[in-house]
Amino acid sequence: MTLPKIKHVRAWFIGGATAEQGAGGGDYHDQGANHWIDDHIATPMSKYKQYEQSRQSFGINVLGTLIVEVEADNGQTGFAVSTAGEMGCFIVEKHLNRFIEGKCVSDIKLIHDQMLNATLYYAGSGGLVMNTISCVDLALWDLLGRLREEPVYAMLGGKVRDELEFYATGPRPDLAKDMGFIGGKLPLVYGPADGAEGLRKNMEQAQAMREKVGNEFMLMWDCWMALDLPYAKKLMEASKELGFAWVEECFNPDDYWAYRDLKKAAGNRIMVTGGEHEATRYGFRMLLEYCDIDLIQPDVGWCGGMTELIKIGDLAASYGKMVVPHGSGIYSHHFVTTRRNSPFTECLMVSPKADQVVSQYYPLIKDEPMPVNGRLKVSDKPGFGVELNREGTNLHEVKKGQTL
Ligand SMILES: [Mg+2]
Repeated sequence: MTLPKIKHVRAWFIGGATAEQGAGGGDYHDQGANHWIDDHIATPMSKYKQYEQSRQSFGINVLGTLIVEVEADNGQTGFAVSTAGEMGCFIVEKHLNRFIEGKCVSDIKLIHDQMLNATLYYAGSGGLVMNTISCVDLALWDLLGRLREEPVYAMLGGKVRDELEFYATGPRPDLAKDMGFIGGKLPLVYGPADGAEGLRKNMEQAQAMREKVGNEFMLMWDCWMALDLPYAKKLMEASKELGFAWVEECFNPDDYWAYRDLKKAAGNRIMVTGGEHEATRYGFRMLLEYCDIDLIQPDVGWCGGMTELIKIGDLAASYGKMVVPHGSGIYSHHFVTTRRNSPFTECLMVSPKADQVVSQYYPLIKDEPMPVNGRLKVSDKPGFGVELNREGTNLHEVKKGQTL
């Protein structure tokens, strides 16, 4: 079989700073009013009173969604979604396209290596550029799977478990328990700037939730980079008493020293986790080797894509550590179902009151399979097995040569 070449790569954006509020898509932070995800969550900006109540107030939703589509010269297309918005389109159209168009559809590793190395001088250690590379990489996996008529999980080596089990992220672990999830991860509300009083309120919430869900249900904290080491130690000690499974992403992603010291203080009594804003095998090597954290949480749409996540997953396995990807729906599911060291995975509750299971990418991806009773069997459809909702979303394009 002669595989076709890639004829075009196209990039679109929706939402973000230039579009209407609540546009929907890959940026789950770009939600309308009265959504839990924008309602007083501890952040690194919480120390500024005017930015304490809402993450959108400091601009968490300005980035917007990036959609990348690749088309083979036989007309077959593949696509993927991440968050990099208009600037991601610029990077694809002005820079990355030269490494994609004209290559064979199976040249995924070559394209990935060229994208990584050609952007080193401006990519930094993660963020916008890596989100964009990740999105291109996922679109290439989708295209190759469709051409080979194989699901991505089969191209990754096949399933090691038939069904995935999920925990839910949101403010209502009690509802998540009723919906069949195996655990619930609470967004932390108060941070170091709220002092002892805030810590007391956090733990009152934790205590109340523990009483609602019982002692057997898994509970965790998501700290979204908001803490300093002394505060994280206090939160961790108090949460350990309530049987919490882990404290997640306590620090600035570059503060490996704080992660290391928190893990040393934790011993093996409660897990220290992180990595959703980390990227590449090198960043994760720091978390695994230097920090010795218990469980890493790469986002396949941000960490360098599936091609990089394979390397990160293998690295974690060599350290005997778990990989439980951050959100990313269908893109994560195909990976998790192939990995022994990914025993369960995350479902981000993107309904406003965390009372329904909704696609993280709603309404951008049609018919995304969602967990039922906290479980999901990854489908056998080719590629990632989902379609782009072109009619229901307002896609914007940054054309070649056009000035932003
Ligand atoms: Mg998190």
